[in-house]
Amino acid sequence: MNFEYSLAFAKDQDLADPLSGFRKDFLFPNQNGVPFIYLCGNSLGLQPKVAREVLEQQMSNWENLAVEGWFEGESPWMFYHKELKSLMAPIVGASPMEVCPMNTLTLNLHLLMVSFYKPQPGRFKIIMEAGAFPSDQYAIESQVRFHGYDPTDAIIEVSPRAGEYTLRTEDIVAKIAEAGAETALVLFAGINYFTGQWFDMEAITKAGHTVGAMVGFDLAHAAGNVPLSLHDWGVDFACWCSYKYQNSGPGGISGIFVHEKHFGDKTLNRFAGWWGYQEDQRFKMEKGFVPEAGADGWQVSCTQVMPMALYHASLKIFQKAGFMEGLRAKSESLTEYLIFAVNQVNIELGFVQFNIITPTEAIDRGAQVSIIAKEKGKEIFQQLVANNVLGDWREPNVIRLSPVPLYNSFEDVFRTAELMLKISKEIGL
Ligand SMILES: *Cc1c(COP(=O)(O)O)cnc(C)c1O
Repeated sequence: MNFEYSLAFAKDQDLADPLSGFRKDFLFPNQNGVPFIYLCGNSLGLQPKVAREVLEQQMSNWENLAVEGWFEGESPWMFYHKELKSLMAPIVGASPMEVCPMNTLTLNLHLLMVSFYKPQPGRFKIIMEAGAFPSDQYAIESQVRFHGYDPTDAIIEVSPRAGEYTLRTEDIVAKIAEAGAETALVLFAGINYFTGQWFDMEAITKAGHTVGAMVGFDLAHAAGNVPLSLHDWGVDFACWCSYKYQNSGPGGISGIFVHEKHFGDKTLNRFAGWWGYQEDQRFKMEKGFVPEAGADGWQVSCTQVMPMALYHASLKIFQKAGFMEGLRAKSESLTEYLIFAVNQVNIELGFVQFNIITPTEAIDRGAQVSIIAKEKGKEIFQQLVANNVLGDWREPNVIRLSPVPLYNSFEDVFRTAELMLKISKEIGL
């Protein structure tokens, strides 16, 4: 696309944007009464206006029905998670049977590793990306230790080549092939939180399966951001949080995916709980765990109604927007415009002050752009916040900006770039 670096151009893009109306469905934080340009949906999505209403509704159900709420009312809590399944499925490219909302992300990563990381002597290695989100590193290390292995032997990290920030698919595939039959599990993020790189999930899945390993993904930064086809790619399992691109609120409910090819496998370990028990027999309260069919069989505790209600409300907005197709089309050009505008700022300054480390090709990224400022990065970031642009800072040196197609505009992007230029000049660059 031919972009222009001007407010008029940005405004024209917004006028032509079929999704621009969704912006008014969200609440923007403000500073001294001035709303922020919010570019932090990769960390915590904005509050949908309906969220409060939805919570109020459940508060009323609790008030008026109390324990009977489990079986009575418009949508009894006992079956409430089912209402989310058909809305979650198109977000990750799965059938409703293959997904279920439950718990929180890192916890689900543990539960799924209990099922899908079954190390044996000779096949106990886990291949993951170097620089994965710390929680994933800790979860994986502790799982390895739990099975009696040493993380330094068992975990193989794939690193960028010298002088590069992101991974090459060929290097990931080669590393998996090299570990070969020793590989028990390949576990990657869909999108790396720091660089914003969207990995070639299909190629990674294929490479893992070629050596007989299980393949799982943490989709914290991918779900609701990029289109996914977990079922068709043959991914074994995945989990995600819903509070980043899916706007379900702080600490929101997580989602899991288990491929249907595993549904009949009785050898899978599970850390079981009563809510994963066969649903129509659950209240017989009998001895001996029998899992419910599908992803629901991984549930442990009773339905977390409040966070699920928030996720449900947010998924309805995705549904109204036509799920990922239109959102992705807008996201691709919105982020491309950000990349273009940042490069324009560099041109104005006469040197590469803002080095974009996120891959610029749409196929290799989602909404997020990670930027290393050559000079005074932290100071510039603080100035952006002081001037009502809210992105985030990741140690040691990265500014992350994520224009989100549901509520960000081309004008947001242009104004952000203008501010980056103005601040850079003001601090004497
Ligand atoms: C955000 C994020 C988490 C957070 O995990 P919680 O259990 O929800 O606190 C974990 N992993 C990745 C890759 C993330 O991006």
